[in-house]
Amino acid sequence: MYNFHSHTNFCDGSSDPETYIEEAIRQGFKIYGFSSHAPIPVPNDFALTEKSFPLYKQEIERLRAKYKEQLTILLGVEADYITEISAPFDYFRKQFELDYVIGSVHMVKCRDNEVWFIDGPFRESYDAGLSSFFDNNARSAATAYYRQINEMIERENFEVVGHLDKITMHNQNRFFTTDENWYRNAILETIDLLKEKEIVVEVNTRGLYKNRSEDFFPEQKYLKYILEKKISIIINSDAHAPKDISLLRDATVKTLRQLGFKEQAIITSDGVELIEL
Ligand SMILES: [Zn+2]
Ligand SMILES: [Zn+2]
Repeated sequence: MYNFHSHTNFCDGSSDPETYIEEAIRQGFKIYGFSSHAPIPVPNDFALTEKSFPLYKQEIERLRAKYKEQLTILLGVEADYITEISAPFDYFRKQFELDYVIGSVHMVKCRDNEVWFIDGPFRESYDAGLSSFFDNNARSAATAYYRQINEMIERENFEVVGHLDKITMHNQNRFFTTDENWYRNAILETIDLLKEKEIVVEVNTRGLYKNRSEDFFPEQKYLKYILEKKISIIINSDAHAPKDISLLRDATVKTLRQLGFKEQAIITSDGVELIEL
């Protein structure tokens, strides 16, 4: 069992890290990775702060020492990329000696330094931003999202791209479909860039087990293209509670095998490794 994407009560998760580790040991995990939301200079209630980051690191290191006979514990972050707003990922990587960084876009930079929050449980805030920032033009909104991801890939240093097509979650085929040519071109261009930079694509199961999406992030029709391009994948549950750490993992492995994937990436203390799926 593996999971490298998890949020604890140091950011927007429900429990302290030790409860996740107790659950991971109970389920036979050999490696467990924490990925709190890295600090961002935008008012929010979900990320670490400059103040809490050292405490997060200290606690993960305490657990790493305490449980070293049972499993390997990794210290990571999920870093938000926001054009001209977020700090360079390497700033956190170096300062806190991180084992890995997941790069994600949850906020699309709009005019006057305002941001459109595309994630979270409420579609109302997604719809409000689409209307006020993009005049309900879904094509320019989704294009802006992928453009920001492309910029992250070009400029930042990170191992894994988180929930690549999160922009589809609250859309639910209401404003655009992912079969439209412009959408397909946008995501394929991003996937080509991921290949070029050798970034691992996360297969994120959270939308499915939270009933917020009908497929993984990214959806299977684009996972097929990711397979064709021989890009590595990593399966993550994006846990926000200890009960989430392995949700849908077995079913996901089965589906990915059916799609033709034979390998999966994992992260160890020495970096990314490929193992049999
Ligand atoms: Zn995320
Ligand atoms: Zn996350």
